[in-house]
Amino acid sequence: MMEIVTSRQIEIVDITDGIERYVNDCGREKGICLVYSLHTTTALIINEADEALLNDILKLMEKIAPQAAGYQHDRGDGNAHAHLRAALLGNSVIIPIEKGGLALGTWQRILFIEMDGPRKRRLSIRIIGD
Ligand code: ZN
Repeated sequence: MMEIVTSRQIEIVDITDGIERYVNDCGREKGICLVYSLHTTTALIINEADEALLNDILKLMEKIAPQAAGYQHDRGDGNAHAHLRAALLGNSVIIPIEKGGLALGTWQRILFIEMDGPRKRRLSIRIIGD
């Protein structure tokens, strides 16, 4: 289990280093690592952690699912846009483990996306060896 405390309503957090440490401590040479968010208004993706690109991703989310666009769920807690964005992006990633570490490409980072913060968030991490 990993805990993330987000500080803004919408925020992208690079969690690669924390997951890498988890995999290193586990001591498996080969396998797969599952990272799974236990929430309905967050997402996990693998992409480049370039500041400009992260802003582009957030802008795209605003375009695809703008806030307060007459959603039925907004009659409840007013965060339908966050659920919809989360549903589009997905709530888990799977990364291969090679030589005891994450087998990520040069520009690949594991990115946690908060869409209804700030909140305390939890990720479940599972490692399965070959
Ligand atoms: Zn809701």
